Amino acid sequence: MNGFKFVAVVRKYKKCPQCGVSWKTTDMYQELKDEVITIGCKCGWQIRVDENNKKVK
Ligand SMILES: [Zn+2]
Repeated sequence: MNGFKFVAVVRKYKKCPQCGVSWKTTDMYQELKDEVITIGCKCGWQIRVDENNKKVK
């Protein structure tokens, strides 16, 4: 996955759907590992998606 795809997916999650915090804060994190993007928040919310923004188990 290239950086553009990573950013394109990450930008779809600008706010935590659980607590509403912005992705620009340090409360949210984005990780790329084995072609899976993990986006999460310190409040406990987390999602794992592939480069097409499809959910991964
Ligand atoms: Zn949150």
